[in-house]
Amino acid sequence: MSALEIRNVRKTFGDTEVLKEISLAIDSGEFLILVGPSGCGKSTLMNAIAGLEPVTAGEIHIGGEDVTWRTPAERDIAMVFQSYALYPSMTVRQNIAFGLEMRKVPKAERDQAVERVADLLQISQLLDRKPSQLSGGQRQRVAMGRALAREPQIYLFDEPLSNLDAKLRVEMRTEIKKLHQRLGTTIVYVTHDQIEAMTLADRIAIMRDGHILQLGTPDEVYNDPADMFVAGFMGSPA
Ligand code: ADP
Ligand code: MG
Repeated sequence: MSALEIRNVRKTFGDTEVLKEISLAIDSGEFLILVGPSGCGKSTLMNAIAGLEPVTAGEIHIGGEDVTWRTPAERDIAMVFQSYALYPSMTVRQNIAFGLEMRKVPKAERDQAVERVADLLQISQLLDRKPSQLSGGQRQRVAMGRALAREPQIYLFDEPLSNLDAKLRVEMRTEIKKLHQRLGTTIVYVTHDQIEAMTLADRIAIMRDGHILQLGTPDEVYNDPADMFVAGFMGSPA
């Protein structure tokens, strides 16, 4: 059974078909990277998986259950997006625990979860600070901590590092990789950074114009690109 299955999903905005019959099955524990040019539908697909946008047609299954018509809160997922809005009036600790509090998780358990992710992300010393007292990279870690505290079946990351400078991006990339290896979670991760894709992915899905052009291991898409577009996009040797 797949952790996440997207079946014939279509999405239209007005007259524009942004997702054209997308089907994709993601294994439990798999790190799937979604790449493609700006405007090809990556975020729309992520929002559909998260339940933030209803699909026009098709089905989404998580852990074998049809969640197509469930709200985001009813889906066992956590998201980290590019604009990592933290609550400015809350401390780091409160920000990380917020989702758990909403779900009425008891305080002792919340505290434990906060300690666990803070340790994992090396932000233990920042727990009593407010977001305004943090650097961009630290804020991004807190946003990630908030998602990790939940231990959902699936993580969705939509260009989580694109607001960070190059040095931090490389650092965070390494950390995300370690996290995945340690936790063995299922991740769908959008990036337009080919190096990020090549280093993080178990498989890469290359999107263009609402379609998935190719799906394969980094080695397959790099060395055996389906067409010129994929070759160009992945920087494959001519
Ligand atoms: P990507 O994340 O790959 O850059 P998006 O999924 O954000 O692309 O957008 C895909 C296309 O859908 C774009 O042409 C965008 O303008 C359009 N789009 C996205 N969201 C909406 C919306 N809420 N209403 C209308 N058009 C949208
Ligand atoms: Mg996007």
